[in-house]
Amino acid sequence: NIRVRFAPSPTGALHIGGVRTALYNYLFARKTGGTMVLRIEDTDQTRYVPGAEAYIQEALDWAGIQLDESPWTGGPYGPYRQSERKEQYLAYAQQLIEAGHAYYAFDTPEELEAMRERLWAARVANPQYDSLSRMQMKNSLTLSQEEVAARISSGEPYVIRFKMPRKEEVRLHDIIRGWVMVHTATLDDKVLMKSDGWPTYHLANVVDDYLMKITHVIRGEEWLPSAPLHVLLYKALGWEAHMPKFAHLPLILKPDGNGKLSKRDAEKQGFPIFPLEWIDPLSNEKVAGFREEGYLPEATVNFLAFLGWSPGTNDELFTMEELIEIFSLERIGKAGTKFDIDKAKWYNQYYLRKRPDAELAGMLQEQLDKLEVGYEAEMVHKVALEIKERAVFPKDLWKDGAVYFIRPARYDQDVAAKKWNAEAQNIISQFAQAVEDDAQALTAERAKDLLQQVLDKNNVKIGRVMQAVRLALTGVGSGPDLMNMIEIIGREETVLRLRQAVH
Ligand code: GLU
Repeated sequence: NIRVRFAPSPTGALHIGGVRTALYNYLFARKTGGTMVLRIEDTDQTRYVPGAEAYIQEALDWAGIQLDESPWTGGPYGPYRQSERKEQYLAYAQQLIEAGHAYYAFDTPEELEAMRERLWAARVANPQYDSLSRMQMKNSLTLSQEEVAARISSGEPYVIRFKMPRKEEVRLHDIIRGWVMVHTATLDDKVLMKSDGWPTYHLANVVDDYLMKITHVIRGEEWLPSAPLHVLLYKALGWEAHMPKFAHLPLILKPDGNGKLSKRDAEKQGFPIFPLEWIDPLSNEKVAGFREEGYLPEATVNFLAFLGWSPGTNDELFTMEELIEIFSLERIGKAGTKFDIDKAKWYNQYYLRKRPDAELAGMLQEQLDKLEVGYEAEMVHKVALEIKERAVFPKDLWKDGAVYFIRPARYDQDVAAKKWNAEAQNIISQFAQAVEDDAQALTAERAKDLLQQVLDKNNVKIGRVMQAVRLALTGVGSGPDLMNMIEIIGREETVLRLRQAVH
Protein backbone atom coordinates (compact mmCIF):
# COMPACT_ATOMS: atom_id res chain seq x y z
CA ASN A 1 0.00 0.00 0.00
CA ILE A 2 1.54 3.24 -1.17
CA ARG A 3 1.66 6.05 1.40
CA VAL A 4 2.95 9.53 0.65
CA ARG A 5 3.10 12.64 2.74
CA PHE A 6 3.22 16.38 2.37
CA ALA A 7 5.14 17.74 5.34
CA PRO A 8 5.01 21.54 5.46
CA SER A 9 6.44 23.65 8.25
CA PRO A 10 4.10 26.38 9.47
CA THR A 11 6.70 29.12 9.15
CA GLY A 12 4.76 31.47 6.91
CA ALA A 13 2.63 31.43 3.79
CA LEU A 14 2.83 28.21 1.81
CA HIS A 15 4.70 29.01 -1.41
CA ILE A 16 3.12 27.95 -4.69
CA GLY A 17 6.03 25.48 -5.00
CA GLY A 18 4.73 23.85 -1.83
CA VAL A 19 1.33 23.47 -3.42
CA ARG A 20 3.03 21.79 -6.37
CA THR A 21 4.74 19.33 -4.02
CA ALA A 22 1.42 18.61 -2.36
CA LEU A 23 -0.24 18.20 -5.76
CA TYR A 24 2.34 15.71 -7.05
CA ASN A 25 2.01 13.69 -3.85
CA TYR A 26 -1.75 13.77 -4.19
CA LEU A 27 -1.78 12.78 -7.87
CA PHE A 28 0.60 9.91 -7.17
CA ALA A 29 -1.48 8.73 -4.21
CA ARG A 30 -4.75 8.83 -6.15
CA LYS A 31 -3.24 7.27 -9.23
CA THR A 32 -1.89 4.32 -7.27
CA GLY A 33 -4.81 3.93 -4.91
CA GLY A 34 -2.50 4.97 -2.08
CA THR A 35 -2.89 7.22 0.93
CA MET A 36 -2.17 10.95 1.11
CA VAL A 37 -0.88 12.07 4.49
CA LEU A 38 -0.27 15.62 5.68
CA ARG A 39 2.09 16.12 8.58
CA ILE A 40 2.78 19.48 10.17
CA GLU A 41 6.50 19.83 10.92
CA ASP A 42 6.50 22.35 13.71
CA THR A 43 9.45 21.34 15.86
CA ASP A 44 11.26 24.60 15.28
CA GLN A 45 9.38 26.66 17.80
CA THR A 46 11.37 29.79 17.00
CA ARG A 47 10.05 29.84 13.45
CA TYR A 48 6.41 29.12 14.22
CA VAL A 49 4.06 31.67 12.66
CA PRO A 50 0.46 31.86 13.86
CA GLY A 51 -2.07 31.38 11.10
CA ALA A 52 0.33 29.49 8.86
CA GLU A 53 -1.27 26.12 9.52
CA ALA A 54 -4.75 27.43 8.76
CA TYR A 55 -3.33 28.95 5.58
CA ILE A 56 -1.93 25.58 4.48
CA GLN A 57 -5.28 23.93 5.10
CA GLU A 58 -7.21 26.57 3.22
CA ALA A 59 -4.78 26.62 0.29
CA LEU A 60 -4.93 22.84 -0.23
CA ASP A 61 -8.67 22.88 0.15
CA TRP A 62 -8.97 25.62 -2.45
CA ALA A 63 -6.79 23.66 -4.88
CA GLY A 64 -8.89 20.53 -4.35
CA ILE A 65 -6.08 18.48 -2.82
CA GLN A 66 -7.76 16.08 -0.45
CA LEU A 67 -6.07 14.55 2.53
CA ASP A 68 -6.67 11.04 3.80
CA GLU A 69 -4.77 11.57 7.04
CA SER A 70 -3.90 14.92 8.62
CA PRO A 71 -4.23 16.92 11.84
CA TRP A 72 -7.67 17.95 10.63
CA THR A 73 -9.01 14.63 9.40
CA GLY A 74 -7.21 12.42 11.91
CA GLY A 75 -6.02 8.94 11.01
CA PRO A 76 -4.47 5.76 12.39
CA TYR A 77 -0.90 7.11 12.66
CA GLY A 78 -1.60 10.38 14.45
CA PRO A 79 -1.07 12.78 15.93
CA TYR A 80 -0.07 14.53 12.72
CA ARG A 81 1.60 17.53 14.28
CA GLN A 82 5.18 16.92 15.33
CA SER A 83 4.76 19.21 18.32
CA GLU A 84 2.24 16.66 19.62
CA ARG A 85 4.70 13.81 19.11
CA LYS A 86 7.55 15.46 20.97
CA GLU A 87 8.07 12.74 23.60
CA GLN A 88 8.96 9.96 21.20
CA TYR A 89 11.96 11.52 19.46
CA LEU A 90 14.37 11.47 22.41
CA ALA A 91 13.99 7.71 22.78
CA TYR A 92 15.13 7.19 19.17
CA ALA A 93 18.06 9.55 19.69
CA GLN A 94 19.02 7.55 22.76
CA GLN A 95 18.72 4.34 20.80
CA LEU A 96 21.21 5.80 18.34
CA ILE A 97 23.57 6.72 21.17
CA GLU A 98 23.43 3.22 22.57
CA ALA A 99 24.19 1.74 19.17
CA GLY A 100 27.15 4.11 18.78
CA HIS A 101 25.59 6.17 15.99
CA ALA A 102 25.11 9.36 17.97
CA TYR A 103 26.60 11.17 20.92
CA TYR A 104 25.98 13.90 23.46
CA ALA A 105 27.79 17.15 22.81
CA PHE A 106 28.23 19.85 25.45
CA ASP A 107 29.94 22.50 23.36
CA THR A 108 28.91 26.01 24.27
CA PRO A 109 28.12 28.53 21.53
CA GLU A 110 31.48 30.21 22.32
CA GLU A 111 33.33 26.95 21.88
CA LEU A 112 31.60 26.31 18.59
CA GLU A 113 32.53 29.77 17.42
CA ALA A 114 36.17 29.18 18.44
CA MET A 115 36.11 25.92 16.51
CA ARG A 116 34.86 27.69 13.42
CA GLU A 117 37.62 30.26 13.71
CA ARG A 118 40.23 27.56 14.15
CA LEU A 119 39.06 25.76 11.03
CA TRP A 120 38.87 29.03 9.17
CA ALA A 121 42.43 29.94 10.15
CA ALA A 122 43.62 26.50 9.05
CA ARG A 123 41.95 27.21 5.70
CA VAL A 124 39.79 24.14 5.89
CA ALA A 125 37.73 24.25 2.72
CA ASN A 126 34.52 23.00 4.23
CA PRO A 127 34.50 24.03 7.90
CA GLN A 128 32.03 21.91 9.78
CA TYR A 129 31.64 19.77 12.88
CA ASP A 130 33.38 16.88 11.20
CA SER A 131 35.00 13.76 12.49
CA LEU A 132 38.23 15.61 13.20
CA SER A 133 36.78 18.47 15.19
CA ARG A 134 34.55 15.89 16.84
CA MET A 135 37.59 14.61 18.72
CA GLN A 136 38.68 18.05 19.85
CA MET A 137 35.35 19.13 21.24
CA LYS A 138 33.53 18.44 24.45
CA ASN A 139 31.30 15.50 23.85
CA SER A 140 30.61 11.98 24.94
CA LEU A 141 33.21 10.65 22.51
CA THR A 142 35.97 12.50 24.34
CA LEU A 143 34.63 12.75 27.90
CA SER A 144 34.43 9.80 30.28
CA GLN A 145 31.07 8.13 30.79
CA GLU A 146 30.96 9.37 34.40
CA GLU A 147 31.56 12.92 33.37
CA VAL A 148 28.86 12.74 30.72
CA ALA A 149 26.39 11.39 33.26
CA ALA A 150 27.37 14.05 35.76
CA ARG A 151 27.02 16.89 33.29
CA ILE A 152 23.60 15.69 32.16
CA SER A 153 22.29 15.25 35.69
CA SER A 154 23.60 18.67 36.70
CA GLY A 155 21.39 20.12 33.98
CA GLU A 156 24.14 21.26 31.65
CA PRO A 157 22.74 21.94 28.18
CA TYR A 158 23.60 19.40 25.52
CA VAL A 159 22.67 18.42 22.00
CA ILE A 160 22.69 14.97 20.46
CA ARG A 161 24.67 14.71 17.26
CA PHE A 162 24.72 12.04 14.59
CA LYS A 163 28.08 10.29 14.35
CA MET A 164 28.70 10.56 10.65
CA PRO A 165 30.76 7.60 9.42
CA ARG A 166 34.18 8.81 8.28
CA LYS A 167 34.68 7.18 4.95
CA GLU A 168 31.57 5.86 3.44
CA GLU A 169 29.85 6.29 0.14
CA VAL A 170 26.15 6.83 0.55
CA ARG A 171 24.18 5.75 -2.48
CA LEU A 172 20.57 6.48 -2.90
CA HIS A 173 18.28 5.97 -5.80
CA ASP A 174 16.08 8.88 -6.68
CA ILE A 175 13.15 8.15 -8.98
CA ILE A 176 13.71 11.41 -10.85
CA ARG A 177 17.50 11.74 -10.70
CA GLY A 178 18.65 8.16 -10.75
CA TRP A 179 21.57 7.12 -8.57
CA VAL A 180 23.01 9.81 -6.33
CA MET A 181 26.29 9.20 -4.53
CA VAL A 182 27.65 11.29 -1.70
CA HIS A 183 30.83 10.73 0.28
CA THR A 184 30.38 11.11 4.02
CA ALA A 185 33.60 13.15 4.20
CA THR A 186 31.49 16.04 2.87
CA LEU A 187 28.86 15.66 5.58
CA ASP A 188 29.10 16.75 9.20
CA ASP A 189 27.74 15.51 12.49
CA LYS A 190 24.26 16.99 12.24
CA VAL A 191 22.38 17.82 15.40
CA LEU A 192 19.47 15.42 15.98
CA MET A 193 18.19 16.73 19.32
CA LYS A 194 18.57 20.38 20.23
CA SER A 195 19.39 21.71 23.68
CA ASP A 196 15.78 22.85 24.12
CA GLY A 197 14.65 19.24 24.02
CA TRP A 198 13.15 19.44 20.54
CA PRO A 199 14.30 17.22 17.69
CA THR A 200 15.71 18.77 14.53
CA TYR A 201 13.95 18.40 11.21
CA HIS A 202 16.17 15.47 10.21
CA LEU A 203 15.42 13.22 13.15
CA ALA A 204 11.73 14.07 13.41
CA ASN A 205 11.21 13.71 9.68
CA VAL A 206 12.84 10.28 9.45
CA VAL A 207 11.22 8.93 12.62
CA ASP A 208 7.78 10.04 11.50
CA ASP A 209 8.16 8.81 7.94
CA TYR A 210 9.01 5.44 9.44
CA LEU A 211 6.23 5.41 12.03
CA MET A 212 3.70 6.64 9.49
CA LYS A 213 4.79 3.89 7.08
CA ILE A 214 5.62 6.33 4.30
CA THR A 215 6.67 4.50 1.13
CA HIS A 216 7.57 7.44 -1.13
CA VAL A 217 9.12 10.75 -0.17
CA ILE A 218 8.24 13.28 -2.86
CA ARG A 219 9.61 16.73 -2.06
CA GLY A 220 11.49 19.73 -3.42
CA GLU A 221 15.05 19.56 -4.69
CA GLU A 222 16.28 21.71 -1.81
CA TRP A 223 16.00 18.60 0.37
CA LEU A 224 18.25 16.43 -1.81
CA PRO A 225 21.39 17.37 0.19
CA SER A 226 19.65 16.06 3.33
CA ALA A 227 18.72 12.74 1.78
CA PRO A 228 22.06 10.97 2.39
CA LEU A 229 21.79 11.75 6.10
CA HIS A 230 18.25 10.42 6.09
CA VAL A 231 19.43 7.21 4.42
CA LEU A 232 22.15 6.82 7.07
CA LEU A 233 19.59 7.43 9.81
CA TYR A 234 17.36 4.70 8.43
CA LYS A 235 20.30 2.33 8.49
CA ALA A 236 21.48 3.37 11.94
CA LEU A 237 17.99 2.92 13.36
CA GLY A 238 17.77 -0.55 11.83
CA TRP A 239 15.00 0.43 9.44
CA GLU A 240 16.78 -0.11 6.17
CA ALA A 241 14.14 -2.50 4.95
CA HIS A 242 11.55 0.25 5.40
CA MET A 243 13.45 2.97 3.60
CA PRO A 244 11.08 5.00 1.43
CA LYS A 245 11.77 5.67 -2.22
CA PHE A 246 12.82 9.24 -2.94
CA ALA A 247 11.70 11.64 -5.65
CA HIS A 248 13.15 15.16 -5.54
CA LEU A 249 11.20 17.63 -7.65
CA PRO A 250 13.00 20.11 -9.92
CA LEU A 251 13.52 23.69 -8.81
CA ILE A 252 11.11 26.37 -9.91
CA LEU A 253 13.13 29.05 -11.70
CA LYS A 254 12.62 32.74 -12.37
CA PRO A 255 10.78 33.50 -15.64
CA ASP A 256 14.09 34.13 -17.44
CA GLY A 257 15.52 30.86 -16.11
CA ASN A 258 18.18 32.68 -14.11
CA GLY A 259 18.10 31.17 -10.63
CA LYS A 260 15.43 30.20 -8.18
CA LEU A 261 12.11 32.00 -8.21
CA SER A 262 11.78 34.32 -5.24
CA LYS A 263 9.15 36.46 -3.63
CA ARG A 264 11.11 39.52 -4.72
CA ASP A 265 10.97 38.59 -8.43
CA ALA A 266 7.28 38.07 -8.17
CA GLU A 267 6.70 41.39 -6.46
CA LYS A 268 8.92 43.25 -8.92
CA GLN A 269 7.11 41.80 -11.89
CA GLY A 270 3.68 41.99 -10.36
CA PHE A 271 2.56 38.38 -10.28
CA PRO A 272 1.58 36.18 -7.34
CA ILE A 273 3.58 33.15 -6.20
CA PHE A 274 1.39 32.27 -3.24
CA PRO A 275 -1.87 30.37 -3.57
CA LEU A 276 -3.81 32.73 -1.31
CA GLU A 277 -3.29 36.25 -0.14
CA TRP A 278 -1.27 36.32 3.07
CA ILE A 279 -0.81 39.05 5.59
CA ASP A 280 2.16 38.20 7.76
CA PRO A 281 0.99 38.58 11.38
CA LEU A 282 4.49 39.56 12.50
CA SER A 283 5.43 42.15 9.90
CA ASN A 284 1.98 43.02 8.54
CA GLU A 285 3.48 42.56 5.10
CA LYS A 286 0.98 41.46 2.49
CA VAL A 287 1.64 39.15 -0.44
CA ALA A 288 -0.74 38.58 -3.32
CA GLY A 289 -2.41 35.24 -3.86
CA PHE A 290 -3.54 33.35 -6.95
CA ARG A 291 -7.05 33.09 -5.55
CA GLU A 292 -7.51 36.80 -4.91
CA GLU A 293 -5.96 37.74 -8.26
CA GLY A 294 -8.76 35.78 -9.89
CA TYR A 295 -7.05 32.54 -10.80
CA LEU A 296 -9.42 29.58 -10.72
CA PRO A 297 -8.35 26.49 -8.82
CA GLU A 298 -8.66 24.25 -11.88
CA ALA A 299 -6.39 26.60 -13.87
CA THR A 300 -3.87 26.80 -11.03
CA VAL A 301 -3.77 23.02 -10.65
CA ASN A 302 -3.32 22.47 -14.39
CA PHE A 303 -0.57 25.11 -14.45
CA LEU A 304 1.22 23.62 -11.43
CA ALA A 305 0.99 20.09 -12.79
CA PHE A 306 3.04 21.20 -15.79
CA LEU A 307 5.64 22.93 -13.65
CA GLY A 308 8.10 20.06 -13.83
CA TRP A 309 5.96 17.28 -15.27
CA SER A 310 4.57 16.61 -18.71
CA PRO A 311 2.51 13.80 -20.18
CA GLY A 312 4.90 13.40 -23.10
CA THR A 313 2.34 14.54 -25.66
CA ASN A 314 1.26 17.98 -26.84
CA ASP A 315 -1.87 17.92 -24.72
CA GLU A 316 -1.85 20.60 -22.07
CA LEU A 317 -5.38 20.72 -20.75
CA PHE A 318 -6.19 18.35 -17.94
CA THR A 319 -8.68 18.39 -15.11
CA MET A 320 -7.65 16.97 -11.75
CA GLU A 321 -9.37 13.69 -12.64
CA GLU A 322 -7.51 13.49 -15.93
CA LEU A 323 -4.20 14.33 -14.26
CA ILE A 324 -4.75 11.49 -11.82
CA GLU A 325 -5.28 9.17 -14.78
CA ILE A 326 -2.00 9.94 -16.53
CA PHE A 327 0.33 11.19 -13.82
CA SER A 328 3.60 9.36 -13.22
CA LEU A 329 6.74 10.20 -11.26
CA GLU A 330 8.85 8.96 -14.16
CA ARG A 331 7.68 11.83 -16.34
CA ILE A 332 8.94 14.50 -13.96
CA GLY A 333 12.01 16.27 -15.34
CA LYS A 334 15.32 16.81 -13.56
CA ALA A 335 16.00 20.26 -14.97
CA GLY A 336 14.67 23.36 -13.26
CA THR A 337 11.44 24.61 -14.69
CA LYS A 338 10.69 28.24 -15.56
CA PHE A 339 7.78 29.92 -13.89
CA ASP A 340 5.76 31.49 -16.69
CA ILE A 341 2.86 33.56 -15.43
CA ASP A 342 1.56 34.08 -18.98
CA LYS A 343 0.98 30.36 -19.14
CA ALA A 344 -1.02 30.56 -15.93
CA LYS A 345 -3.12 33.32 -17.51
CA TRP A 346 -3.64 31.24 -20.61
CA TYR A 347 -4.97 28.39 -18.47
CA ASN A 348 -7.16 30.78 -16.56
CA GLN A 349 -8.73 32.23 -19.68
CA TYR A 350 -9.47 28.71 -20.88
CA TYR A 351 -11.06 27.55 -17.65
CA LEU A 352 -12.98 30.77 -17.07
CA ARG A 353 -14.63 30.35 -20.47
CA LYS A 354 -15.53 26.79 -19.53
CA ARG A 355 -17.44 27.82 -16.45
CA PRO A 356 -21.24 27.66 -16.96
CA ASP A 357 -22.73 30.88 -18.37
CA ALA A 358 -24.90 31.36 -15.31
CA GLU A 359 -21.79 31.33 -13.15
CA LEU A 360 -20.03 33.92 -15.32
CA ALA A 361 -23.14 36.09 -15.10
CA GLY A 362 -23.00 35.64 -11.33
CA MET A 363 -19.38 36.84 -11.24
CA LEU A 364 -20.33 39.96 -13.19
CA GLN A 365 -23.38 40.52 -11.03
CA GLU A 366 -21.24 40.32 -7.93
CA GLN A 367 -19.05 43.13 -9.22
CA LEU A 368 -22.08 45.23 -10.18
CA ASP A 369 -23.47 44.77 -6.68
CA LYS A 370 -20.17 45.77 -5.13
CA LEU A 371 -20.05 48.92 -7.23
CA GLU A 372 -23.75 49.58 -6.66
CA VAL A 373 -24.49 49.74 -10.36
CA GLY A 374 -28.12 49.06 -11.26
CA TYR A 375 -28.92 46.30 -13.77
CA GLU A 376 -31.47 43.86 -15.06
CA ALA A 377 -30.55 40.24 -14.48
CA GLU A 378 -31.33 39.28 -18.05
CA MET A 379 -28.97 41.90 -19.39
CA VAL A 380 -26.16 40.78 -17.10
CA HIS A 381 -26.49 37.34 -18.60
CA LYS A 382 -26.30 38.62 -22.17
CA VAL A 383 -23.31 40.83 -21.40
CA ALA A 384 -21.44 37.97 -19.73
CA LEU A 385 -21.93 35.80 -22.82
CA GLU A 386 -20.85 38.60 -25.11
CA ILE A 387 -17.53 39.32 -23.39
CA LYS A 388 -16.50 36.02 -21.86
CA GLU A 389 -14.16 35.12 -24.72
CA ARG A 390 -11.85 38.01 -23.91
CA ALA A 391 -11.77 37.68 -20.13
CA VAL A 392 -8.72 36.19 -18.40
CA PHE A 393 -9.97 36.91 -14.87
CA PRO A 394 -13.44 37.39 -13.44
CA LYS A 395 -12.58 41.05 -12.93
CA ASP A 396 -12.17 41.44 -16.70
CA LEU A 397 -15.87 40.74 -17.03
CA TRP A 398 -16.40 44.03 -15.34
CA LYS A 399 -13.61 45.85 -17.20
CA ASP A 400 -15.11 44.90 -20.56
CA GLY A 401 -18.68 44.90 -19.31
CA ALA A 402 -18.81 48.33 -17.68
CA VAL A 403 -19.70 50.12 -20.92
CA TYR A 404 -22.99 48.23 -21.14
CA PHE A 405 -24.14 49.42 -17.75
CA ILE A 406 -22.69 52.89 -17.48
CA ARG A 407 -23.51 55.67 -19.92
CA PRO A 408 -20.27 57.46 -20.91
CA ALA A 409 -19.52 60.46 -18.73
CA ARG A 410 -16.61 61.59 -20.87
CA TYR A 411 -15.19 60.81 -24.28
CA ASP A 412 -11.68 59.80 -25.22
CA GLN A 413 -10.18 63.03 -26.51
CA ASP A 414 -7.57 61.40 -28.74
CA VAL A 415 -10.23 59.49 -30.62
CA ALA A 416 -12.48 62.53 -30.69
CA ALA A 417 -9.73 64.69 -32.19
CA LYS A 418 -9.42 62.34 -35.14
CA LYS A 419 -12.94 61.07 -35.68
CA TRP A 420 -15.44 63.52 -34.23
CA ASN A 421 -16.58 65.85 -36.98
CA ALA A 422 -19.70 67.43 -38.45
CA GLU A 423 -20.24 64.56 -40.84
CA ALA A 424 -20.13 61.99 -38.07
CA GLN A 425 -22.39 64.03 -35.82
CA ASN A 426 -24.91 64.36 -38.59
CA ILE A 427 -24.97 60.62 -39.18
CA ILE A 428 -25.25 59.94 -35.45
CA SER A 429 -28.25 62.30 -35.09
CA GLN A 430 -30.03 60.69 -37.98
CA PHE A 431 -29.20 57.22 -36.70
CA ALA A 432 -30.66 58.10 -33.30
CA GLN A 433 -33.84 59.27 -35.00
CA ALA A 434 -34.06 56.15 -37.15
CA VAL A 435 -33.65 53.88 -34.12
CA GLU A 436 -36.27 55.81 -32.20
CA ASP A 437 -38.81 55.77 -35.03
CA ASP A 438 -38.31 52.15 -36.04
CA ALA A 439 -41.15 49.78 -35.27
CA GLN A 440 -39.24 46.51 -35.54
CA ALA A 441 -37.44 44.73 -32.72
CA LEU A 442 -33.96 46.22 -32.32
CA THR A 443 -31.71 43.29 -33.01
CA ALA A 444 -28.05 43.67 -33.94
CA GLU A 445 -29.04 42.92 -37.54
CA ARG A 446 -31.74 45.56 -37.52
CA ALA A 447 -29.43 48.17 -35.97
CA LYS A 448 -26.94 47.51 -38.73
CA ASP A 449 -29.64 47.91 -41.41
CA LEU A 450 -30.82 51.19 -39.93
CA LEU A 451 -27.30 52.57 -39.81
CA GLN A 452 -26.66 51.43 -43.36
CA GLN A 453 -29.84 53.17 -44.56
CA VAL A 454 -28.71 56.43 -42.96
CA LEU A 455 -25.26 56.09 -44.48
CA ASP A 456 -26.67 55.34 -47.94
CA LYS A 457 -29.01 58.31 -47.80
CA ASN A 458 -26.07 60.58 -47.01
CA ASN A 459 -23.70 58.80 -49.32
CA VAL A 460 -21.16 58.17 -46.55
CA LYS A 461 -18.99 55.08 -46.23
CA ILE A 462 -19.24 53.25 -42.91
CA GLY A 463 -15.49 53.36 -42.27
CA ARG A 464 -15.60 57.14 -42.00
CA VAL A 465 -17.96 57.25 -39.03
CA MET A 466 -17.79 53.91 -37.23
CA GLN A 467 -15.27 55.08 -34.63
CA ALA A 468 -17.38 58.12 -33.89
CA VAL A 469 -20.46 55.95 -33.36
CA ARG A 470 -18.46 53.82 -30.98
CA LEU A 471 -17.23 56.89 -29.17
CA ALA A 472 -20.81 58.14 -28.82
CA LEU A 473 -22.05 54.85 -27.41
CA THR A 474 -19.13 53.89 -25.16
CA GLY A 475 -16.88 56.93 -24.70
CA VAL A 476 -13.82 55.00 -25.88
CA GLY A 477 -12.26 53.99 -29.17
CA SER A 478 -12.35 50.22 -28.91
CA GLY A 479 -14.37 47.46 -27.34
CA PRO A 480 -16.84 44.70 -28.03
CA ASP A 481 -19.08 44.39 -31.09
CA LEU A 482 -21.17 47.58 -31.39
CA MET A 483 -24.31 46.21 -33.03
CA ASN A 484 -24.54 43.42 -30.48
CA MET A 485 -24.13 46.05 -27.85
CA ILE A 486 -27.04 48.07 -29.22
CA GLU A 487 -29.22 44.99 -29.10
CA ILE A 488 -28.21 44.36 -25.49
CA ILE A 489 -28.59 47.88 -24.12
CA GLY A 490 -31.83 48.42 -26.07
CA ARG A 491 -33.57 51.15 -28.00
CA GLU A 492 -34.07 53.71 -25.28
CA GLU A 493 -30.52 53.59 -23.98
CA THR A 494 -29.06 53.62 -27.49
CA VAL A 495 -30.99 56.71 -28.46
CA LEU A 496 -30.12 58.41 -25.19
CA ARG A 497 -26.41 57.79 -25.62
CA LEU A 498 -26.32 58.87 -29.26
CA ARG A 499 -28.18 62.11 -28.46
CA GLN A 500 -26.11 62.84 -25.38
CA ALA A 501 -22.98 62.64 -27.54
CA VAL A 502 -24.10 65.08 -30.22
CA HIS A 503 -25.60 67.67 -27.89
N1 GLU B 1 9.22 20.27 6.73
C1 GLU B 1 9.93 20.21 5.48
C2 GLU B 1 9.46 21.40 4.65
O1 GLU B 1 9.01 22.34 5.21
C3 GLU B 1 9.61 18.91 4.82
C4 GLU B 1 10.65 18.42 3.88
C5 GLU B 1 10.37 16.98 3.50
O2 GLU B 1 9.37 16.78 2.79
O3 GLU B 1 11.09 16.11 3.93
O4 GLU B 1 9.52 21.45 3.45
